[in-house]
Amino acid sequence: MQEGERALSVPSSIAVLTSGGDAPGMNAALRAVVRRSVYEGIRIFGVYHGYNGLIRDEMIEMNVSSVSDILHRGGTILRTARSAEFMTSAGRDKALAALRGRGIEGLVVIGGDGSFRGALELMRLGFPVMGVPGTIDNDIEGTDYTIGFDTAVNTAVEAINKVRDTATSHERTFIVEVMGRDAGFIALAAGIAGGAEVILVPEEGRDLREICRRLTSGLRRGKLHLIVVVAEGAARAYDVAAGVTSEAGLETRVIVLGHLQRGGTPTAFDRILASRFGSAAVAALLEGRAGLMTGVRGDQLVFPELEACLAVRKRLDPELLKLAGILAI
Ligand code: ADP
Repeated sequence: MQEGERALSVPSSIAVLTSGGDAPGMNAALRAVVRRSVYEGIRIFGVYHGYNGLIRDEMIEMNVSSVSDILHRGGTILRTARSAEFMTSAGRDKALAALRGRGIEGLVVIGGDGSFRGALELMRLGFPVMGVPGTIDNDIEGTDYTIGFDTAVNTAVEAINKVRDTATSHERTFIVEVMGRDAGFIALAAGIAGGAEVILVPEEGRDLREICRRLTSGLRRGKLHLIVVVAEGAARAYDVAAGVTSEAGLETRVIVLGHLQRGGTPTAFDRILASRFGSAAVAALLEGRAGLMTGVRGDQLVFPELEACLAVRKRLDPELLKLAGILAI
């Protein structure tokens, strides 16, 4: 057992919920949580509507067939929610009472950093929780990848491929805005994979002159298409387009991918990651471990402390950032 972990009694009955923004692969994680629990011979309850469902005791006992036919489905069959009531200690007391009332002794929370802050509050009340990172933004420290990121990047790259066809035909500059909240993980990955001429991420400064210089020098070298990928946290695509038109005189078109990136069938990568995380979260609870998150470093599963993950802002890989600049000359 690592330093900082608490020795807890081994649960014979646990619950699982999905919370916050949905992400493709959450269902695959849920399936793994349920099936690992059944495999281990413990009872498993699914909680509907995130922390709201805990407060209202909206749970059902699940079995192997409760999670049939969901591996490939986006979203989450347990639904997800944001819960203002859980932000209050009265709300959390109700949630705890509901869990204890059913004899539940451990909880797996599949969600993003907000959901993990809620999970930590339950830990502080003495309730064992394991976190499984599910967010397309990949903005959680302690893991190379979160569930849903790979699918969202692939969705964005598919869109960029399509845009490139029409950008080439019409000789226009396309500004593609992708999600990511205040981080640039999706933009950087999709920009590199999609061969964007310019990638704007919130982690780096934005200089309109430099953007225009890159675009016009590309045109001079005979590039047939110009694509700028903008992270939603870096700038609004319409503002970038207006700037490029006024500064460089280029005709622009804007595409805001928005919630398209949150849906769709998860990629094989996300399904495997989610399956590993979900199963490992249950195994950890059964070993008496809690207050941790499942993560992956390289190809190894890791179990960093939730509190430590929440305390640090995850950094973009500087090598990837540099590579993006080199390749987009
Ligand atoms: P995500 O998990 O995708 O980051 P949110 O930030 O919306 O999504 O968080 C999901 C839910 O987690 C919130 O609606 C709230 O119920 C709970 N939560 C977030 N922060 C806290 C906190 N500091 N204390 C208790 N619960 C929290």
